[in-house]
Amino acid sequence: MPSTSLAAWPFDNTYARELAGLHAPCQPSRVPAPRLLFLNLPLATELGLDPATLAGPGGADLFAGNVLPPGAEPIAQVYAGHQFGGFSPQLGDGRALLLGELVDRAGRRRDIAFKGSGRTPFSRGGDGKAAVGPMLREALIGEAMHALGIPTTRALAVAATGEPVYRERPLPGAVLTRVAASHLRVGTFQFAAARGDGARLRLLADYAIARHDSDLVGTPGRYMGLLARVAQRQAALVAQWMNAGFIHGVMNTDNMTVSGETIDYGPCAFMEAFDPQAVFSSIDRQGRYAYGNQPGIARWNLARLAEALLPLMVEDEVAAGGDEDAAAEGLVAQATAVIDAFPAQYEAHLRQGQRAKLGLALTDPDAGAGTDGGTEAATDPGPDASLADDWLALLHAQRVDFTLGWRRLADAAAGDEAPLRALFTDLPALQGWLARWQARCSLDSGDTPGERARRMRRANPWIIPRNHQVELALEAAMEEGDLGPFDRLLAAVRAPFEERPAFAAYAEPAPAAVTAAYRTFCGT
Ligand code: AMP
Ligand code: MG
Repeated sequence: MPSTSLAAWPFDNTYARELAGLHAPCQPSRVPAPRLLFLNLPLATELGLDPATLAGPGGADLFAGNVLPPGAEPIAQVYAGHQFGGFSPQLGDGRALLLGELVDRAGRRRDIAFKGSGRTPFSRGGDGKAAVGPMLREALIGEAMHALGIPTTRALAVAATGEPVYRERPLPGAVLTRVAASHLRVGTFQFAAARGDGARLRLLADYAIARHDSDLVGTPGRYMGLLARVAQRQAALVAQWMNAGFIHGVMNTDNMTVSGETIDYGPCAFMEAFDPQAVFSSIDRQGRYAYGNQPGIARWNLARLAEALLPLMVEDEVAAGGDEDAAAEGLVAQATAVIDAFPAQYEAHLRQGQRAKLGLALTDPDAGAGTDGGTEAATDPGPDASLADDWLALLHAQRVDFTLGWRRLADAAAGDEAPLRALFTDLPALQGWLARWQARCSLDSGDTPGERARRMRRANPWIIPRNHQVELALEAAMEEGDLGPFDRLLAAVRAPFEERPAFAAYAEPAPAAVTAAYRTFCGT
């Protein structure tokens, strides 16, 4: 039943209760003039909260952190992390607070957290605050990702605080309320492991298993099982990023969840012209987190998770009577096998997604019998994978907009090739590829061109949050307090697969010069 008052948030705070030593109690800062800028009505309903109440008087105070819903037990979580490859043994929520957990209408436990609510014991030199622009950006991109079907944390609300935050210049401050399957990060495990705190590490790992892989609870070998599950979820997630042209921008181990949700929207961006080297983040000077590097980085991060979990695995084998050195050797080999399996798992997800985007039946007609798109994909790409690779090479060579290229391929499936051709300069190269693709399509029996086009339009968005549109919307909100452009862009990205003429401007790429100069900044 939806709650009728702000008081009725049925929090259950397992993280605060069960994981002593991995958080510190902390209250949000009071702010002078709260104002609600964004309220996520569908998400509020999903959580069993009453959107009308949240939108009413009191909602702004609540989402700015001035009035806590009863039952909230605000804590700052501690974690460690590899940032751009270098290890920091203690990071933690420098400007975030976990209020507690709600079990949503579908029975899923969801974290409710503030971001930008003031200093915490883990703020280091930071002010603990956030500006309106980056918080609206996180809300917008999260909703876009969700609408694209990509697992993600989401914003329930963004409230302006009425006080400035000081960056290169004073900016209006804001607090974002984040909803997440959990805030367990690879870095959370690294924190406990780096302190050699086996008891705490075990509590944490068992907590993660109970929360995300409950079928593994109490089983022998469950920590290896957890590692394998996290790897599976990340393989699926990163493949979805790649097929959407999404660049996270800061894939540090503290920004990688064990839940498999995308988290921490800082300098992320969607690619326009296809380029595997694309990188937008102003702080990523070496291109460590470039588009094409994301699967490799995910694997690297998973190896760090494996290292963190290894002491628990060894401890269990020794407790079961094993020799410590032999146990360690065997477990390292097993964990290595899990990590080594990641590229093929990722590739299987990527290829499955590409087949949908190409409008093909989901199995490769020429691949070996019994294949599930599994391990052999890494060594022998197969004809469908080559078709996809050659398509991407074509997009790259001709600097074609990634989103429009795929989308207009659906028009070509329906018999209208002109919109697609308009994106290319070297038409014979396109024509040659189209002939191969059409020949491949004809192998899928029982499929009309119209059906294929409709299927492709469900796999290839018409709208992504294009960088120039995002900037325009944030600028209007920040500089003029005008939320109109933000609201329109939000409406556009919330139905990305529908071609609605009123939103046509949002489907257009930015002028090339704008994209070339585009830089994103960490949301600090
Ligand atoms: P990020 O890479 O944005 O996920 O942030 C890395 C670390 O910096 C995290 O521990 C954040 O909590 C912390 N941090 C970012 N911005 C601030 C801020 N304004 N004040 C305090 N800590 C911050
Ligand atoms: Mg982070």
